[in-house]
Amino acid sequence: QYVLAIETSCDETAVAIVKNERELVANVVASQIESHKRFGGVVPEIASRHHIEQITLTLEAALGEAELEADEIDAIAVTEGPGLVGALLVGVNAAKALAFAKGKPLVGVHHIAGHIYANRLEKEFTFPVLSLVVSGGHTELILMNEHGSFEVIGETRDDAAGEAYDKVARTLKLPYPGGPHIDKLAAEGEDVLNFPRAWLEADSYDFSFSGLKSAVINKLHNAKQKGVTLKPEDVAASFQASVVDVLSTKAYRAAIDYGVKQIIVAGGVAANQGLRNALHEKFEGTDTELLIPPLHLCTDNAAMIAAAGAVAFKQGHRAGYDLNANPALSLERYGQRNDDD
Ligand code: ATP
Ligand code: FE
Ligand code: MG
Repeated sequence: QYVLAIETSCDETAVAIVKNERELVANVVASQIESHKRFGGVVPEIASRHHIEQITLTLEAALGEAELEADEIDAIAVTEGPGLVGALLVGVNAAKALAFAKGKPLVGVHHIAGHIYANRLEKEFTFPVLSLVVSGGHTELILMNEHGSFEVIGETRDDAAGEAYDKVARTLKLPYPGGPHIDKLAAEGEDVLNFPRAWLEADSYDFSFSGLKSAVINKLHNAKQKGVTLKPEDVAASFQASVVDVLSTKAYRAAIDYGVKQIIVAGGVAANQGLRNALHEKFEGTDTELLIPPLHLCTDNAAMIAAAGAVAFKQGHRAGYDLNANPALSLERYGQRNDDD
């Protein structure tokens, strides 16, 4: 059984195909990062135009990679939200057109459910599963007791982890997206600047990164005024130490409190070497198995949407031709959706 998935929520046009839920047979990602770089971030209008230019080519490339005809596909999955509305619409309309033309069932997928399900392409889930979702727009701890059910037990109160990385990178004049550059610099520096850790209330699983971001900017500003030069490696290392400390400590506490069998790290920041190392150390020798996807499945792709879509398809979820892009789609509500609504 083959599920083809389309993902266009942000700045990658992606199409992938999975066989029998967990076997990836095609994974094509057309990234637009080069077009957005000189603006220091994603420009929505440019993103939509690129998706329109790339979507048909990407679809054909994926079918070619899998050596399949569109008729052999059993269902079409697509990211319906959250994301940029104009970007999402390109994927949703392409999916609807293909589903209609070929008479195939259509399945809507939540982008973050996708980031989580990327891991199922590598390893079968054993519930309860806790996911630490750390991406450009999200920082959340999500508890799953079964397939397709999502309980958000903690989330950021301000900036997302990836967003903090990108903003600090911009202050250090590093290219967009800044996360990987800070990660690399951090490995060469030392945690000597004592940036704050936002633990919030003792029992909270929530996060906050805006205070840390301001602390970094202030430290750089004050140093400049005093004519002191801070080593960018040390700024990166100190910033990363604070982010990683809070993320890994809270994820560990939640994993113990909820007695989960597996902890999943999902989203673009899951590519971070410092975070990977810290989590490996924390969960080593515990009863909780740590799953982190390979780098190419951390950032946006359609393989993850196909993995989540295949499960939604098996559970009987179907979208109609009135499926619309939903830029603010809630994960919990998506999990409780009733297709008759
Ligand atoms: P969302 O998934 O919340 O809608 P998004 O799709 O834009 O947002 P992703 O593509 O999942 O986010 O992740 C992109 C983010 O990951 C960027 O902020 C980028 O800087 C960050 N990132 C990528 N690699 C690393 C790394 N090695 N270290 C830290 N951050 C990283
Ligand atoms: Fe994403
Ligand atoms: Mg992205």
